[in-house]
Amino acid sequence: MPEKPKPKPQKKSTPQPPDTPLPVQLEEFAKPYALVSLPRQAPRRGSPAGQERFRRDRLTGKLHLRLTVKTTAFVASGVVAMGSDLSSNKTKNPPLIKTAVERDNRLIIPGSSLKGVVRSAYEAITQSCLCKTKADKTKIPDGYRECNQKDNREYNKKDNFCPACQVFGALNWQGLIQFPDAEAVEADFTVGFMPSLKSPSRDFPGYYINGKVAGRKFYYHAIRAVDKGQQQGIAVQQAGGEFVFTTRLRYMNLTKAELGTLLIILGQDKSYPNIALKVGGGKPVGMGTMTVEVTEIEQFGSGRERYSSYQTEPQSLTGEKMRQFMEQSIKDAHNQLVQSRQLQELSQVLQWPTDREPPEGMY
Ligand SMILES: [Zn+2]
Repeated sequence: MPEKPKPKPQKKSTPQPPDTPLPVQLEEFAKPYALVSLPRQAPRRGSPAGQERFRRDRLTGKLHLRLTVKTTAFVASGVVAMGSDLSSNKTKNPPLIKTAVERDNRLIIPGSSLKGVVRSAYEAITQSCLCKTKADKTKIPDGYRECNQKDNREYNKKDNFCPACQVFGALNWQGLIQFPDAEAVEADFTVGFMPSLKSPSRDFPGYYINGKVAGRKFYYHAIRAVDKGQQQGIAVQQAGGEFVFTTRLRYMNLTKAELGTLLIILGQDKSYPNIALKVGGGKPVGMGTMTVEVTEIEQFGSGRERYSSYQTEPQSLTGEKMRQFMEQSIKDAHNQLVQSRQLQELSQVLQWPTDREPPEGMY
């Protein structure tokens, strides 16, 4: 579907018409994020599939992904460069620019960034632990502590991993999927001005209920990223709208339900097709929105129905075959793993397209 090009977001946000009543909770309305509630039942733990060998009753292969930037995206390299040293064919550069992660002149989304984004969504819609939370230990609800921590009595017991840790890994467990870096299809970038952001507060209203963490925080998408120019922003090397990245996510010994859950997060569920990811910096000001397309699935010899010896050549699935395979996996995910209430909540926050304006003046 062709998106209309919207490069220069110079317009101010549309004010509410005067006769429109204010939303009941103005604060709720203005926040660029929302909480996805924790499932009522504490994490359901078990043992991961293991990586020593390919299991015939599990799935091993690669998902070919195409990520399209919808607002602007910036993944900081930590390096500041002279504007004159960066050659962009579109813009006259400001003197100093915070650079993005790059390889051979192509912008990169590091696999670790992408993995983090997909993982937090996976945690939110399954009965998983509160991983990497900065909240105080005493504020974690019963049973929700991160899996396999050293001070845990169950440390290194095999059957002690929540659904997300089984797939994405935990301390002393590598996990079953790998995210290589996503590479830009073209050697290009734009220069934008990212407003300097206050470091986000953890203790926002509603984050704790009865002294315990109430949910997981996700940022909404906005129709565009805030860019108020050089006066109010830091120059960043970014991927502009409709920039395309590709990558191949590798998985080993996943159940269909696990693969299906991943596919739901990647926006492949027909019932929740409008999920987009939020990657990199500037999330509160509308940056980082990306839609995902699965272009091919390479499936290595597996499945109960196949009795032939182990196939070294992967089977390539595209088109209708791939669609059916994804549909079955997603069905299993709904039946076995996905918490429907949390998925509904998450899909509302990560909904794209959106008509939500980016927040003005809170940074
Ligand atoms: Zn866990």
